[in-house]
Amino acid sequence: MPKPPHDADHRRAVAPVICYPNETLPQPDLDLYQRARRFARQIASVLVSARDARCFDVPAGHFFRITSVDGPQVGDLNLWNANELSERFYSGKTRALHGAHLTTGERMWSSFPNLRPMATIVEDTLDWYGIDEFGGSVHDVIGTRCDPYTGNLLAGSQYHYCCHSNLTRAVSDHLGIPLEQAEAHVHDVLNVFMCTGFTRDTGQYFMKATPVRPGDYLEFFAEIDLLGALSACPGGDCSAEHSSDVAACYPLQVDIFAPDAGALDGWQQPQPSGYNRSHGLGVPS
Ligand SMILES: [Zn+2]
Repeated sequence: MPKPPHDADHRRAVAPVICYPNETLPQPDLDLYQRARRFARQIASVLVSARDARCFDVPAGHFFRITSVDGPQVGDLNLWNANELSERFYSGKTRALHGAHLTTGERMWSSFPNLRPMATIVEDTLDWYGIDEFGGSVHDVIGTRCDPYTGNLLAGSQYHYCCHSNLTRAVSDHLGIPLEQAEAHVHDVLNVFMCTGFTRDTGQYFMKATPVRPGDYLEFFAEIDLLGALSACPGGDCSAEHSSDVAACYPLQVDIFAPDAGALDGWQQPQPSGYNRSHGLGVPS
């Protein structure tokens, strides 16, 4: 261990600054969304079985709600631009902009070169949870998605119902493409209902039993045409372990709602990033 410098305490005492002050982020018009939602009608419902995943389509301007049914269950959510699958949810940048956990009014941002809101959280029945004494909170954009490769690395296992594989099967089935093509579309997730944080002593990613109960839900407004995929994680409530069939698991429900005609007057889909993409070498034609 290198010897600390004489001014080590002084250096540690430097106050942190927020990396991305977000006061200049374009703000969603939540009042408009809430008015539109009041008269929206349900047009589809998808039940995601335990240890499995399903895809669903949400046109721009529609709402989708993920609801806990039967028992405490965590879900892993992927989103794509339904018209261009290379534009997909960017978990890391969303974390940098909003913090490690999302809640009402915050957004799921898309990958470069678009970097625009794909979906805005309009209601979260777990808003009350806040940040607990361990530094834990719900709906994180920290974790990646449970996957068979990490399980194999750490335990030599061959487990096939991790969220990564569930999402891969769902995308393959929904788009009618081979598994290996579908797998390339699967990306880091929003961990719906999962309660997570970093340990203060070792800085390790931790999980604890989700506070979600049947009837709780997280609801989104689709800013662009979306293809979604949701996996009911084999970790169940994520109180003990994932990547196995040990935990009690329950289904998750996804409901889609269409707004009334005219309910979104004045609203426009977010445009792709205004960066000119020259990267210092002149603007591409
Ligand atoms: Zn999982």
